[in-house]
Amino acid sequence: MKKFTKIAAAVISAVLMSSTVSALAFESAINVTLNGIVDNDIHYVSFGETRPIQINDSTFVPIRRLAESAGMTVTWDEPNKTALISLKANAASALPAERYAAAIISKIGGYGLELVPSDITAEMKLNDNNAVIRYNFIDTDGDTVAIGKTITMDSAATMLNETLMIPLRNSMEIFGLYVDWNQDTLTADISIPSYVSAPKGLSIIANYSPGVVSSSSSAPIVTETVTETVSVEENDPVDTNPALGQYLGRFKITHYCTCSECNGGWGNTTAWAGEIIPGQTIAVDPTIIGKLRWVYIDGYGIRRAEDCGGAVKGYHIDVAVSDHHDYEGVTYKDVYYLAE
Ligand SMILES: [Zn+2]
Repeated sequence: MKKFTKIAAAVISAVLMSSTVSALAFESAINVTLNGIVDNDIHYVSFGETRPIQINDSTFVPIRRLAESAGMTVTWDEPNKTALISLKANAASALPAERYAAAIISKIGGYGLELVPSDITAEMKLNDNNAVIRYNFIDTDGDTVAIGKTITMDSAATMLNETLMIPLRNSMEIFGLYVDWNQDTLTADISIPSYVSAPKGLSIIANYSPGVVSSSSSAPIVTETVTETVSVEENDPVDTNPALGQYLGRFKITHYCTCSECNGGWGNTTAWAGEIIPGQTIAVDPTIIGKLRWVYIDGYGIRRAEDCGGAVKGYHIDVAVSDHHDYEGVTYKDVYYLAE
């Protein structure tokens, strides 16, 4: 049986290379068990027509069947050919996996910010070895803040019989779960580690909002890698060594532009200084940052407090950019007055 699996895997591997996988009648002997994930027992994952398969010594499993069996949800972003696997964090849940997610997030703490844990997500793109893990929090304004990192997997997600297949070990280890492979029974056993340790090397990164969601997908195509971190416009006047004055604190940073969605009936005009200038104008709470004061925002550079807004209160800066669509999500940065 072992031999048969390996030969069949080699054949399928060759077919996969051609990127045109079609109806492969192949019953694999690989099983996956969930051990203490959904309750205290061991459960076999029930797969549909497309079974787990070994390709180049890695076990690939249908993502939706595996994730949903483990109490996770899967969103498929068709335009970006990306799957978002989500595990809710809930310390009071009946599901051990959700209690485990809450335990991991509590180890992170929240970077000294007042943040409420919501879930852990893993973003996997078709034919891309890089997966992004995000530990998501809700801040005091109700916005989602993602703290996470990119992880390089041994294998990329691939498509088989119009089913997205993910590398089993990598995809579960990303969530901090333990995968034990039994070669005699060809069974992968997924369990929660007895000791929960804090993930390392995290930073605040952009959120991921899926595009058009569909349940199935067409043949795999290779697309560019999405830039994950919030980027700064190239023409921004970033002074790497400005003379800094008073440290104002760590501010929540959002972005706006002159479009009607961002600006409603206000048009292009700022509250205190004429037109909005992307790369210069910021909207602030004038009780925190003085009107028309020049500030330095870490990672952005020099900006001027020229605007205010109903939604900009307290330690929050809305940074004017040329197109808000280029800036997904929220970030937090240290802010200083420039030396006078
Ligand atoms: Zn806009």
